[in-house]
Amino acid sequence: MGLERVADGVWLLRGDLRGAMNIYFLEDGDGVVQFDAGTKAMRKAAAEARQLGGLKRVVLGHAHADHRGTAPYLGVPVQCHPDEVADAESPASIQPYMDLSLLPVAPVRWLYPFLLRHWDGGPVKIDSTVSEGDEVAGFEVLHFPGHAPGLIGLWRESDGLAVVSDVVYLVDAARLKPLPEGEASIPHPAFGWDHAKAKESLRRLAALEPRVVATGHDRPLRGDNLRETLERAADKL
Ligand SMILES: [Zn+2]
Repeated sequence: MGLERVADGVWLLRGDLRGAMNIYFLEDGDGVVQFDAGTKAMRKAAAEARQLGGLKRVVLGHAHADHRGTAPYLGVPVQCHPDEVADAESPASIQPYMDLSLLPVAPVRWLYPFLLRHWDGGPVKIDSTVSEGDEVAGFEVLHFPGHAPGLIGLWRESDGLAVVSDVVYLVDAARLKPLPEGEASIPHPAFGWDHAKAKESLRRLAALEPRVVATGHDRPLRGDNLRETLERAADKL
């Protein structure tokens, strides 16, 4: 299985649809912390990642089906933000606030309910919570509400690395295809809890002036002027 090195002590496992579903492993002492849990189909690959050291716990960036998929299968404590616990523990594969009828392309609109159920690993028992300002494997937890109420990212100021789940998309999820290289977009409102807050959160990420933005889907975004790229994305949709 292929783990890609993102930065010092940070590894990316890509899987499922076009390899666009991401799980991150963060070295933490003698083991690793898993950030985000991808899709159910990735559970075997995620378990094999223990070659990095013992898996200590899973931290969910948010509780959508394609981010919680492996979590019930790994046999370690799972954490998320307090505002995400109810959705993580719910059997629903589609959050009540999602409005898939907003998706512009009909076949994609019809496909998503099946995809979300297929990706989902089912309800996840949350062991404890992490909030703004907490520390996870040398990163600071930041709360980025919008796409989901309890969406969190991890920020490491020393090398400007932000691991942010779905604060920003590098794929066009509404058309199920990649965005042009170097482009970013705000997640489509069809999948989101509060689009105005999602924009605010994306602007907050931009203002950190990150050097690398590692997202929930597709390869990390790197560049000298990510602030501008992210601000443009926040203004687009
Ligand atoms: Zn999501």
